[in-house]
Amino acid sequence: MRTALTLLPLFIVPCAVADTATAPHVRVNYRDMGSTHAQAIADTVSAAWTVYRDEFGFDMPETVLVEAAIERGAGARLYTDGADRLYLTLPDAAKLNRPEVSGVFNLYGMCHELGHMAMYRMLKNRDWMTTAAAEGWAHYAGSLVVDRVYALKGEKLWCDPYDYRKDGSARLTQQLAGPDPDEVTRGAGQWRALEQIIGLKGFAPLFRGWYAAQPDLADPAPALSAAAGRAIPAKAAQIEPWWSKARELFVERRAISSMAARTLDPGKLSGKPTAMQGDDGTPDGKKSIAGGGHARLFESPGGEWYLRGVSLFGSRYGAPEAPSESFEIALCDEQMRPIATWAKPYSTFDRGDARWVKLDVQPTLVPAKFYVCFNFRPTGTKGVYVSYDSSTKGHSQTATPGKPGSPFDAGDWMIRVDLDKPKSADALGGG
Ligand SMILES: [Zn+2]
Repeated sequence: MRTALTLLPLFIVPCAVADTATAPHVRVNYRDMGSTHAQAIADTVSAAWTVYRDEFGFDMPETVLVEAAIERGAGARLYTDGADRLYLTLPDAAKLNRPEVSGVFNLYGMCHELGHMAMYRMLKNRDWMTTAAAEGWAHYAGSLVVDRVYALKGEKLWCDPYDYRKDGSARLTQQLAGPDPDEVTRGAGQWRALEQIIGLKGFAPLFRGWYAAQPDLADPAPALSAAAGRAIPAKAAQIEPWWSKARELFVERRAISSMAARTLDPGKLSGKPTAMQGDDGTPDGKKSIAGGGHARLFESPGGEWYLRGVSLFGSRYGAPEAPSESFEIALCDEQMRPIATWAKPYSTFDRGDARWVKLDVQPTLVPAKFYVCFNFRPTGTKGVYVSYDSSTKGHSQTATPGKPGSPFDAGDWMIRVDLDKPKSADALGGG
């Protein structure tokens, strides 16, 4: 089962009547499921955890929490929050049988999801990464981990014992040899090719290096290539040709504005910014949008104006402590193509009552019409509720930078901007 990180703006409330099964570094809270099934899940996740930590050298959570439930009428679902949790829902317990009977690859699925977790814990921002790369990684790593888990635990690990090695690397090899492998399979093939160069222990430093690189999303490939070489210097010469092939599949192509970012030193501005606000200051609702950002359109007063600061009325949801991640602010042209982007820490937003949060940005020249887009990459367990005001409409979109958005009809996002002019253009300042 290939499952993507689900992006739903909801709180996950642990069920009060769940039973618990445990294994080293794993706790399974389960509902309407037999204890044998729950224990098999705990033991599988525990074995996979060991492989990811010991063989790959990943920083895995001290305890992985699995919420497992049988829910009549529900679809088979398995996903991770990318930090320390797995969520498994199946319509009936028979779906826990071996895949040839149930049609569900539970054991592989858990190894796959832990692969996402291993990567996402390090590579917290990865807007540059395609689905082929992200899902290809989990497919490659999950398949390999299935083999290693078998070597550790044998077939009796699963509640319906079978030789699950056929769900592992052997299956991937078969898929790759097929006439027309899909892009996730091809992505998995690229990761496997990289393993031949850097070994299993090379992935953790690579992901760390890519995260530290914070590549410019307008053209991330060169920075990612350089970061890979720096992460594993002894293999840089071999990584280079691998990357020149893989990047076609791995790097998201983002439309970028034809307008180059023109920045100015803050000291060269008049220091008397003009606030642009379209809202009446009173929120009429709030939203966090799965897979989407919050973009608001502004019009420059005309002449040479620089975006100096952006404000948003909102509040964070999720764990009491903010995730040590960043979100993205983008200055986009009228077609939502980014001119400039900035990463800001999630901790800028507090939980609780919504309030105005103001952020400075490197002063950047704005076109006649421009969008400011906040991209929080929300999940079920982290995000920011952005308030909107319904006294105006037609200036807001649900969008991520570089892709066409869709109009937001309920009102306009409560986003404001500060624009400033260069000192030299300020006649009253004597410039
Ligand atoms: Zn996946």
